[in-house]
Amino acid sequence: MPDLSIIDHSQLTYLSWDDLRSNKKFIVYELDGKMVGIECKFTPTSKHNICSLCHHVGEVAYFSTVTKAKKSKNPDYYKSIGNFICTDSSECNKKITNVSYLTTFLRDSLGM
Ligand SMILES: [Zn+2]
Repeated sequence: MPDLSIIDHSQLTYLSWDDLRSNKKFIVYELDGKMVGIECKFTPTSKHNICSLCHHVGEVAYFSTVTKAKKSKNPDYYKSIGNFICTDSSECNKKITNVSYLTTFLRDSLGM
């Protein structure tokens, strides 16, 4: 966990940090009054594309996570969700105006 006390909460919608050694990105968000977090596989692209969280074009990384949602008929089924996200999370937080994708993504990932 990063030191949360140094982060300016007024500009934050979600919390995110990268573990570059394992190529993982962590996203933490307050959903229904509870802090929830997910861990994503994170692949830098050094390309410009539309970020799925803030819908602005910028330098993005590809991130993917395996959801906990299971199909009843096939217990081995895991759905993987992947999308582009801003490389710079603090810029992303400043631009984000709609959290519907973020909340849907978190709910799907956590099987909520
Ligand atoms: Zn973004």
